[in-house]
Amino acid sequence: MIVGKPAVASGKWLRPDRLQADLVTLASFGGLANGGVTRPAFSQAYREAVVWLRTQMNDAGLTVSTDAVGNLIGRLGPAEGPAVICGSHIDSVLEGGRYDGALGVLAGLECARALTANGQVPARALEVVAFVDEEGAFLSLLGSRAMTGRLQKSDIVRAAASDGTRLVDVMETSGLDSRQAAWARRPPEDFNCMVELHIEQGPVLESALLDIGIVTSVVGLHLSRLTFSGQAAHAGTTPLDTRRDAMRGAAEAITRAFEALERDFGPDVRLTFGALNVLPGSSNVVPGLVVMTCEIRAESEQTILELARDVELICRDVAAHRGLGFRRQLLSYDPPTAMSARIIDVLARVAGELSFSHHLMPSGAGHDAQSFADVCPTGIIFVPSQNGLSHNPFEFTAPEYIERGLRLLHAFLCHRLFASA
Ligand SMILES: [Zn+2]
Repeated sequence: MIVGKPAVASGKWLRPDRLQADLVTLASFGGLANGGVTRPAFSQAYREAVVWLRTQMNDAGLTVSTDAVGNLIGRLGPAEGPAVICGSHIDSVLEGGRYDGALGVLAGLECARALTANGQVPARALEVVAFVDEEGAFLSLLGSRAMTGRLQKSDIVRAAASDGTRLVDVMETSGLDSRQAAWARRPPEDFNCMVELHIEQGPVLESALLDIGIVTSVVGLHLSRLTFSGQAAHAGTTPLDTRRDAMRGAAEAITRAFEALERDFGPDVRLTFGALNVLPGSSNVVPGLVVMTCEIRAESEQTILELARDVELICRDVAAHRGLGFRRQLLSYDPPTAMSARIIDVLARVAGELSFSHHLMPSGAGHDAQSFADVCPTGIIFVPSQNGLSHNPFEFTAPEYIERGLRLLHAFLCHRLFASA
């Protein structure tokens, strides 16, 4: 049985050039003239990309299947027993980049090819997985949540795109029966561990000139809807002191919320008022209603809940002295998700053996791996993003960084696939 360093050394079978070629080919599905991609889950481009990827997995000697929600799974090694899951996603946001998600899937595929080229039959199974709809065109993290049992039937029935298209209908177009979606759920015994290679999507690694980020946790995300209600009135005839201006209240609350954030919370806490609806929305009418989103992300649950409470208190105070009504609705809350300490240790040790500079860091973005954190040991590897740019056609990671991410992923997989423990 091959353990430790010999498995690391077998990285000579990896072909980083083939991974680069795959990234280019995959980017042609839904490809844009500026180099980016628009490939939301279940779109025509997405379905064509899945057909292409299925062929690549077959050619690599993997046993390929599609589960009940549309996750594409390529398995190597024993047909039964727990598998080491190496996955990410090949759907994209509108006008997204060619590395987000795609890198983790295609790097997993390249690792599988290296194993078969080297004649290595792993003692444990490896599954390379392309999880469906990570980006949430219909339902964020659909594939990974379905596989780990974190979805209710009602979530699938209710899910729809922003244009109203229902998930159950696009699943049918893709040959999937949404009534069977529960079959995608697998028991924890099916998973040995889960690892995801992903671009950082932020500036930390690049600015510190580091090769690799090892994720300690995925930050929690608290999303609420804040509504200020006043009275619509004539913009010319209504004096300032008699107005109940919902927009003025919202603006004051936003400013005070950021002052509180900068005064009372650390620099790693994120606060975003990203969508704002002003009604009736006329230049000559004092706004009677403002509905806005408030998104908070942080590594600590206590921090998230404290900031959410402070923002609410500020809003209520502003509403009281401006004569406005105020209401807060919680839309969703995903608590922070810690990655496995054991996986972090192994990744850090293997990165050290490969002489890659690395850094432990939280992930500010959500990833498929977080769905697995409660069911098996889970880890995420980051490689640098140029200018910290992602969800953008100009998203880029230099080939030398991609190669280091690939080599670390491969060495980690060898460790898990061949080690006796
Ligand atoms: Zn992603």
